[in-house]
Amino acid sequence: MTWETVIGLETHVELATKTKIFCSCTTAFGGAPNTHCCPVCTGMPGTLPVLNRRVLEFAVKAALALNCQIARHSRFDRKNYFYPDLPKAYQISQLYLPIARDGAVDIRTGAGDKTIHIHELHMEEDAGKLVHDPWLGQTRADYNRCGVPLIEIVTRPDFRTAEEVIAYLEKLKETLVYLGVSDCKMQEGSLRCDVNLSVRPLGSGRLGTRTEMKNLNSFKAIARAIRYEARRQIELIEEGGRVIQETRRWDENKDASYAMRSKEDAQDYRYFPEPDLPPIQLSEDYLDALRAARPELGEEKRARYQADYGLPRCDCETITSDRALAALFEEVTALGAPPKQGANWIMGEVLGALSQRGMEPRDMPLTAPTLARLIALVGAGKLNRNTAVKVFEAVFDTDGDVDGYVAEHGLEQIGDDGLVREACARALAANPRSAADYRGGKEKALGFLVGQVMRELKGRADPQAVNAALRELLAP
Ligand code: ADP
Ligand code: MG
Ligand code: ZN
Repeated sequence: MTWETVIGLETHVELATKTKIFCSCTTAFGGAPNTHCCPVCTGMPGTLPVLNRRVLEFAVKAALALNCQIARHSRFDRKNYFYPDLPKAYQISQLYLPIARDGAVDIRTGAGDKTIHIHELHMEEDAGKLVHDPWLGQTRADYNRCGVPLIEIVTRPDFRTAEEVIAYLEKLKETLVYLGVSDCKMQEGSLRCDVNLSVRPLGSGRLGTRTEMKNLNSFKAIARAIRYEARRQIELIEEGGRVIQETRRWDENKDASYAMRSKEDAQDYRYFPEPDLPPIQLSEDYLDALRAARPELGEEKRARYQADYGLPRCDCETITSDRALAALFEEVTALGAPPKQGANWIMGEVLGALSQRGMEPRDMPLTAPTLARLIALVGAGKLNRNTAVKVFEAVFDTDGDVDGYVAEHGLEQIGDDGLVREACARALAANPRSAADYRGGKEKALGFLVGQVMRELKGRADPQAVNAALRELLAP
C-alpha cells in the first residue's frame, strides 16, 4: 500500500519585547537563575498581571503578515496544570477567543508552490526551565523565562513532507525576523516547534490518528523526526497494530522518539476566562496604523532586487536570507556601489568572513560605508581586487579606516603606466627563456611573466594593465 504522511505544526515563538508579557521584568536570554523575576511572574498570590501593549502589537503585526483575520474582540484564558516550572499552576493563554485565525503562508519546495493554512495564532506566557544536574542528582527551577511573551501559531494539517515543513518554518522565521517581532533563534528556544503527524492510505479523505512530537530544536531534528515517526507508524499499522494518540519526545542523540504521555484534551486543563485581565478590543485605526507600519518582507525584497537591480534570483535569495545582510546590501548600494559588485562582496567576502568567525550577520562589526569605500576604490582603479580583499580582511573586525590602511601600507594601485612598463621590461630582461617561449607560441609563459611583475610591484599593479604592457613589449 502507498502511504501518505499528514503533518500539522504548532510553533511557539518568543517575542522580542524588552519586558515580559504581564510584568516589567526583562526578557533577556540566560542570566543568573531567578534574577529576572518578580512577584507577578513567579505567581505570588495577590499579584495582578497587566498586559504589555508591545506584546499585543507584535502579535497583531505577526498575524497581519501571516494573512490572518484579526479578532476585534479577544480574551485570555487560564490553562490549569501543575508542573514545577510553572509556579502559578496555570498558564495565561488564549483558547476561546484567540487574537487571530485563518491565515495563509505560501511556500515553495522542489515539488512546487503550495499554501499552508494557519488555523490560529494566539498569545500566551512562557514557563520557566528545569535544570537537571545529574552529577548532584538534583533538579532546580529557574523562573527567568516565566512570563516571557509567546505567540503560538497553529497550522491546519496541510504538510505532506519534511521538506514542506522546513520551507514553512524558514518562511515563518524570515517573516518574523523582518518584522522585528522575534529573533527566532532556535538554539535559544525563541522558535520551538511541535510536530503532529499521522499517516493514511494515499487518496483517503480521512485523517489517521496522530502523535505529537515535542522537543525539536533544529531543522535537522525536525526532518529526521518526521521521517522516523512516519516510518514507525506505517510499520506499526502494516504489522496489524494501531497508532495511539500520544505525546512523544524526540531524542536527538538516539535518533528515535519515545512515548512521553497520552495526549491530553482541552478539558483536562479546565480552561476558563482569565478573570484578572480585561478583554482586548481593537479599533480599525489601530489595525490600520500597524498595517501601514509593516516593513518590506523578504519576498518583496527579492522581487525588487531582481526588478530594480537586475540581480539573479539566486543572489537575491542569499542576500535576503538575513535581514542584516539585506540592510547592508541596500546601504552599500545607496552609497553608490554597483548592485552586482555589492552583491558579490556580500556573498563572497562578507559571508566568508562571518562563517570563519562563526558570527551572525547582525553582529558584524563591518559597516556599509566601509564596504562601499572599498568597492569604490576598486571601481576607480585605486585598488586591485586581490589587494582589496586583503584590506577587507584587515578592516573587517574593527570596521577600520580603508583609506588610512591603504596609505599606511602603500597598497594603492600603481596608476602610472610608465612604472608598469619599466617593471615589465625588467622582468623580460631577467627571464629571457619565458620571453622566448611566449614568442615561440607558448601563451602560458605570459602568465608566469605577469606573476613576476606583480610580485615586483608588490601586487599593487592592475594585472590587466601588466598583461597588456607585456604583450606590447613582446610583440614582434
Ligand atoms: P490540540 O490543540 O489538542 O493539540 P489541535 O486539533 O488544535 O489539537 O491540533 C493541533 C495540531 O495538530 C494542528 O497543527 C493540527 O493541524 C494538527 N493535526 C490535527 N489532527 C491531525 C492529524 N490527524 N494528523 C496530523 N496532524 C493533525
Ligand atoms: Mg497541541
Ligand atoms: Zn516579573
